[in-house]
Amino acid sequence: MSTATPSRTESEVRRRRTFAIISHPDAGKTTLTEKLLLFSGAIQIAGSVKARKASRHATSDWMEIEKQRGISVASSVMQMEYRDCVINLLDTPGHQDFSEDTYRVLTAVDAALMVIDAANGVEPQTRRLLQVCRARNTPILTFVNKLDREVQEPLALMDEIERELGMTVVPFTWPVGMGKFFGGVLDLRKDQMRVFTPGEDRVAGTEEVVQGLTNPVLAERFGSPYEQAAGEVELVREAAPEFNHADFLSGKQTPMFFGSAVNNFGVQEVLDALVDLAPAPGSRTAIQREVQPVEPKFTGVVFKIQANMDPAHRDRIAFVRVASGKFERGMNLKVVRSGKTLRPNTVVTFMSQKRELLDEAFAGDIIGIPNHGVLQLGDTLTEGEALQYTGLPFFAPEMFRSVEVADPLKTKQLKAGLQQLGEEGAIQVFRPIAGSVLLLGAVGQLQFEVVAHRLEHEYGCKARIMPSRFQVARWVTCSPEDGGEKELKRFIDANDHRMAYDAVDAPTVLVEYAPELRAIESNWPKIKFHALREHA
Ligand code: GDP
Repeated sequence: MSTATPSRTESEVRRRRTFAIISHPDAGKTTLTEKLLLFSGAIQIAGSVKARKASRHATSDWMEIEKQRGISVASSVMQMEYRDCVINLLDTPGHQDFSEDTYRVLTAVDAALMVIDAANGVEPQTRRLLQVCRARNTPILTFVNKLDREVQEPLALMDEIERELGMTVVPFTWPVGMGKFFGGVLDLRKDQMRVFTPGEDRVAGTEEVVQGLTNPVLAERFGSPYEQAAGEVELVREAAPEFNHADFLSGKQTPMFFGSAVNNFGVQEVLDALVDLAPAPGSRTAIQREVQPVEPKFTGVVFKIQANMDPAHRDRIAFVRVASGKFERGMNLKVVRSGKTLRPNTVVTFMSQKRELLDEAFAGDIIGIPNHGVLQLGDTLTEGEALQYTGLPFFAPEMFRSVEVADPLKTKQLKAGLQQLGEEGAIQVFRPIAGSVLLLGAVGQLQFEVVAHRLEHEYGCKARIMPSRFQVARWVTCSPEDGGEKELKRFIDANDHRMAYDAVDAPTVLVEYAPELRAIESNWPKIKFHALREHA
């Protein structure tokens, strides 16, 4: 397929890097994002990252979240140019109650940058996010942050990351000292030491470099922290395998960097590594076939839907990851699920400093299409081909509430509202077979508050959200060799008191306790119970 001179699409795809930063809150994601943006010259954006952060801690007050929504639409995808690359950085929501949304965002990236707070090591949120990346074999770069503080010993950190996350860690740099005695990092590949200079507004590339890891000047100047680091480097070189690009690409190895984001130290190295090591957009799997990013025809998949700021208009922005071809403003797009045609004239493109990027997009880029419910999570858009991408995950909820309208005359609004909020992925909505009360499922408590608030303010219906006895949900299927639809129907009929259908009519069994589920599973060996559903 590749000719002597690559097509425009080929060369554009080749220079794309699309990634997300994953971390536990407070590890330094916001700080690092700002520094990355500074490198690309997109300085004016840095303020908006801070602004978003400022309101982020206002957790359960929905008004605050709503204020923040407008900012986060704008900053949830940041596009920048660095060296010869177009970099798309996707934000992952910080609050753990929105982790479902985060998981879906991770399906739209080709690599992830994991930020670890060197004092705290591997924290729960990092672990969860990393599991999702591992399941998809997403390549991961590791940045160990806050070396300007008293933190854990680097060897211990390396060991912890390997053990906890099940990846081989290959250090590219190694710290000399820490906290007050942080002297800089030894660059194991370039055989040099970069000397640490503190300063929040420091420009990259201004730090001092000493050539030669064994240069006697280093021992003289940095004393025992250097001696210790040099000893550790020797040990690491013996014990750790060589960096292997294929192992990195399949998520088995992670290159590790040390630094201090707030001091802009070690950040540029990570960005360079991302450009050099992370993959350009690759092929993506649809039910029908494997799709190459350089194919001439446009295809894309909706991985996130966000309500827009203006509640009166109820327009929503569908975030589409371009999977192949070239997107141009004003082109006709087919929504494969419904067969409808869209002709988006107003497309939200994400901040970049170069104007010409705004009217077209290639594989790896994200475009935002405002719409009024035409697009759903997991939808595939094409120029006409019947194609459905797979792999967008929905997780079985861990909390349930039942929901009723306070005013029975508003039942219609409730249904419409819940349908839209369900399509957006804000909450999962289940219709039990028995009874007429709808059930809401979430992974975090905050989701219920958000839904109640939005039902009232955007759909004009006050909802009563009440406890539910259910605690566990599993989607159920039955493969043809086990009896298929017939066996599934037998299961549904026998369990109709605890069966429900979700937003896409997938049958779901709801139980009160985990042991009850185990009993059902052993009684119905031909039925498969899924904690994860993929859009398909
Ligand atoms: P996020 O929650 O992961 O986005 O974390 P932030 O970027 O907001 O950082 C959390 C806190 O850690 C802030 O107070 C930062 O100023 C601080 N911080 C970030 N990077 C560093 C660093 O390299 N050294 C030190 N000492 N503090 C840092």
